[in-house]
Amino acid sequence: MMRILTVIGARPQFIKASVVSRAIQTEEAIEEIIVHTGQHFDANMSDVFFNQLDIPRPHYQLDIHGGGHGSMTGRMLEKLEAVMLEEKPDRVLVYGDTNSTLAGALAGAKLRIPVAHVEAGLRSFNRNMPEEINRILTDQVSDLLFCPTSSAVGNLEQEGFRNRLARVVQVGDVMQDAALFFAEHARCPKEVSVPGEFILATLHRAENTDDAGRLSSLVNALNQVHKNIAPVILPLHPRTRAAIQELGLDIKIKTIDPVGYLEMLWLLAHCGLVMTDSGGLQKEAFFFGRACVTLRDQTEWVELVEIGANQLVGADAVAIFEAVKRHYGRNVEDNNSLYGGGDASVRIVETLIEEAQ
Ligand code: UDP
Repeated sequence: MMRILTVIGARPQFIKASVVSRAIQTEEAIEEIIVHTGQHFDANMSDVFFNQLDIPRPHYQLDIHGGGHGSMTGRMLEKLEAVMLEEKPDRVLVYGDTNSTLAGALAGAKLRIPVAHVEAGLRSFNRNMPEEINRILTDQVSDLLFCPTSSAVGNLEQEGFRNRLARVVQVGDVMQDAALFFAEHARCPKEVSVPGEFILATLHRAENTDDAGRLSSLVNALNQVHKNIAPVILPLHPRTRAAIQELGLDIKIKTIDPVGYLEMLWLLAHCGLVMTDSGGLQKEAFFFGRACVTLRDQTEWVELVEIGANQLVGADAVAIFEAVKRHYGRNVEDNNSLYGGGDASVRIVETLIEEAQ
């Protein structure tokens, strides 16, 4: 029996882990121990995903959130080490690029427990993003690197991973598995009275919320788009809500509380365009045939920019307005199998079993 200790803590990790945990449950040879760090803790940022996506209840709830990055990561590291010493897993499994990812990987690596990283190799090449630091360091200490795309594999090759003992495998993107698996359960958010046409927006990257100039320009752009192109619906991340309030910005679009994943899938299926600074949303727009206008200066999902499905616009209000006007209502064809086609989670579990033999 192989024992895998999974560390999750933030919204996108619950969604990614849901499909891998589902695949693990079909294998008698694997026992999964789930640790929730507590990084995201609001009911609508955490519990809703466990309920909707049928994720097994975490065995450990560490309840760690808030504070600076160092403080949060350090507290997680300390508690995760204790859990790992207690549970003695054969492998640690981490997802994405949050502080929970880095703490899990580092705790495992220091105890010489092999670490597997789902969503390895992504790079924005912008070290001002906390996520970029987390990705680079997590990849460095991982033994098994599950890449979603060929560009992620290419990034690791550039960093010399070919010559190391670590194993790099391109498995596809677990977020495509999740979107395909749950699409038929999509449902309209209760705050949305079935609208006509609309644009779906999300906004929460620190580079946008923690920069007053960028945030006010983005709010201005959203207001202009809402008034002149199509109504904008924005499920508002708690960090963004706090930043908008603090700056006293006048946001005139339809903001709603963060929604569950099934509501998000409904919004994706019915919108005419996605505007976002989220990593996950850029691909989900593509899975649903929608164009995406990305409110950042770089993206890790470069293949979507290359095929014209996604346009990077940064925070400039004029550039954003022009891009939305150009892409609104456009259908994007997903005929490239860029993200593996929906079997990434199965391939991950197969590889974990293979490695244990
Ligand atoms: N998401 C959600 N409800 C929301 C906003 C986002 O379920 O109100 C989902 C979204 O569909 C995607 C994931 O959360 O699957 C993305 O997470 P987020 O944007 O927080 O993180 P990122 O992908 O940028 O790391």
